[in-house]
Amino acid sequence: IQILPLSFLSAADQAFVTLATTEDYCMGALVMGKSLRRHGTTRKIVVLISSSVSPEARHSLERVFDEVVQVDVMDSMDRTHLSWLGRPELGVTLTKLQCWMLIKYKKCVFLDADTLVLQNVDDLFEREELSAAPDAGWPDCFNSGVFVFRPSLHTHSRLLAHAAHYGCFDGGDQGLLNSFFKDWAVKDISKHLPFVYNLSSIQSKFGHQAKIVHFLGAVKPWHLRYDQSNKDSYLDQFLNMWWAEYRSQMPPISGEVDGNQDSG
Ligand code: UDP
Ligand code: MN
Repeated sequence: IQILPLSFLSAADQAFVTLATTEDYCMGALVMGKSLRRHGTTRKIVVLISSSVSPEARHSLERVFDEVVQVDVMDSMDRTHLSWLGRPELGVTLTKLQCWMLIKYKKCVFLDADTLVLQNVDDLFEREELSAAPDAGWPDCFNSGVFVFRPSLHTHSRLLAHAAHYGCFDGGDQGLLNSFFKDWAVKDISKHLPFVYNLSSIQSKFGHQAKIVHFLGAVKPWHLRYDQSNKDSYLDQFLNMWWAEYRSQMPPISGEVDGNQDSG
């Protein structure tokens, strides 16, 4: 008898989830998904897409993700405030809330499409809802680019009601999630993920320990050029890693029998 670790037995009802509503974010999601596979995740990988995503992009995502789920783009109810922040596109991130509807999974880890996984991070599933890392710009808040959650229709409708009633202070999902899970900062330190699970790509420390890099901000890797000679900062190195993953062959799916792969 082969004895499997407990974490492997529960792998089928756990998933990494991301969101991509545009072609650009599909590029990001693709790279993020490949990076999860490269580091041998044993969990499912799911991407939420909008109906505007092209069939070509959808097809590429289907080669990497276990599930591609079409969801409605839900605009933030706070458009004026968003345009004031100069990031009107963030309204769609409220669509993120639909990840709570993936109730065939018991526990999930949401990863923004602008993240890159550099080490196996399956240990995140040992954490409880809502676990996240502090935001670099405002550490009393968590950054909503990486978080552990439990899909639940009840939580989903409570989140929507909360959004409708309170609005959200930055018009995006981060403000809303922080005001909903408002005791995150003080209640339970085990829900504070170490910063290396959501390391801002622009910081200059601890880059060698990074587990997940987050290219947060208006400029994304897909807007920048690949220049292997640039190795000065961690940002340059992370950008090169992102492009290397973009161009890489699809890593084998964990548990897949050798020689069972599509040769293209
Ligand atoms: N997103 C998307 N379409 C958009 C904007 C955002 O699908 O037009 C998704 C994508 O998964 C992205 C996440 O929402 O990673 C959060 O947005 P972004 O990463 O741009 O915000 P930031 O991390 O820079 O604050
Ligand atoms: Mn992001």
